[in-house]
Amino acid sequence: MLDTPRGHLIGREVVPARPDATLPVIDPSTGETFGAIARGTAADVDAAVAAARAALDGEWGALTATQRGRLMIALAGLIRDHADELTALEVRDVGKPVRQARADAIACARYFEFYGESADKVHGETIPYQDGYTVLTVREPHGVTGHIVPWNYPMQIIGRSVAGALAMGNACVVKPAEDASLTALRVAELAVEAGFPAGAINVVTGTGEEAGAVLAAHPGIDHVSFTGSNHVGKLVQAAGAENTIPVTLELGGKSPQLVFADADLDEALPFLVNAAIQNAGQTCSAGSRIVVEDAIHDEVVRRIAEAFARLTVGPAESDPNVGPLVNAKQHAMVNGFLERAKADGLTIVAQASLPDDLPEGGYYVAPTVVADVPADHELAQKEVFGPVLAIIRARDEAHALQIANGTAYGLVAGVWTRDGGRAMRLARKIRAGQVFINNYGAGGGIELPFGGVKASGHGREKGFEALYGFSVTKTIAFKHG
Ligand code: NAD
Repeated sequence: MLDTPRGHLIGREVVPARPDATLPVIDPSTGETFGAIARGTAADVDAAVAAARAALDGEWGALTATQRGRLMIALAGLIRDHADELTALEVRDVGKPVRQARADAIACARYFEFYGESADKVHGETIPYQDGYTVLTVREPHGVTGHIVPWNYPMQIIGRSVAGALAMGNACVVKPAEDASLTALRVAELAVEAGFPAGAINVVTGTGEEAGAVLAAHPGIDHVSFTGSNHVGKLVQAAGAENTIPVTLELGGKSPQLVFADADLDEALPFLVNAAIQNAGQTCSAGSRIVVEDAIHDEVVRRIAEAFARLTVGPAESDPNVGPLVNAKQHAMVNGFLERAKADGLTIVAQASLPDDLPEGGYYVAPTVVADVPADHELAQKEVFGPVLAIIRARDEAHALQIANGTAYGLVAGVWTRDGGRAMRLARKIRAGQVFINNYGAGGGIELPFGGVKASGHGREKGFEALYGFSVTKTIAFKHG
């Protein structure tokens, strides 16, 4: 049990929660409340934005890119030193199995390393222009950047979004998800320990409506990076439009994996399974649809069903393959999908069994495979955000492509085939921000630009490209004769 409610981190100070303004922290493995966080209001967001502005006008804004990078690398070291503690916090706070939570902590450190090392490597250009001129471009920070973050990969997404912004010299205000704020606060405390000047990183906790919406609409914000649902993404973009500021939207997906008869199935199988069940399926880039060529359909279904039946489900601390879902709302939502699939007569070909001794209040769902899902059924179209895999039959390459592109989303796709020509044809024709050929996810790939098209959003994070998104080009034309 956390003794006192966790406060916000504004400037370099912890701002305590007001006694009448807290949110419970619930362990998804048991449903038990074990602490509380501050329920931030407009006043807290105002204070954080003011602290960030003061940082830009003060010590933080005066640092060189190399100095910023060194601070970020120092923070990465502290995150690594505290990986056990951060892992334990995440396991309890969001019900993430131990290995996955630990991978998130290490990925968070990697983001600060990668972008810390990149901070002084973003160069402008000199442009040949008229006689008597020297024209050059410089990349400048937007200023104060807002970061609205979801609960499914809190440490990874904070690392991804905040590290890129800091590298370019922005000052950040982070609004973590109400279900996953503990590691955000701890990482911000470690930033203080690493020596970041006051106001470079601020964290305001609270609900989306009370704190997130205020941050998105705040006139003191110069850029918003939003990661979350499509529905809220549109609200954030509309709020950004009012202030005429750029908004990056990293939204959901219904990412397909296309499996052809010539694929190496032994190689593909672990990816097909893991991409669907990692983090209990609560992953934006979950490979939640498998599109299989007719000729190997039955074999793929059989092998995936066997693998699902072997999956372990349990409390996050026991490090199962599949932990609980994050909260009661998600639990009800995923069960709703399963009930409707049954009512519609879909074929459930595998369901891992739930152990009898699961804690009663935990939010567990048995990993489930549904085969022969019609391409227009909601299981093939909507983001379930649970460990539910839809298998869809395709006649041939053209049909598989049509199914792959046949949803509102376009985040990630996988193609499994030994035919190089087909792989490249599909990679070019699939509408998605990332396409993986004979692999999926590439182990997180911090170096690889990531983001969506269509309802999956716009703008790119990760890789070097994020540094362009978190900065703006200024052209300086000097007429010297
Ligand atoms: P969500 O949209 O409900 O919440 C995301 C964040 O927005 C939270 O911090 C929340 O408090 C805040 N928020 C809620 N209402 C708001 C409002 N009106 N104004 C401003 N902020 C508000 O999403 P979620 O349920 O936390 O996360 C799941 C979704 O996130 C899924 O759709 C998933 O695919 C997506 N996601 C996308 C990526 C990506 O990189 N593309 C990564 C992870 C998750």
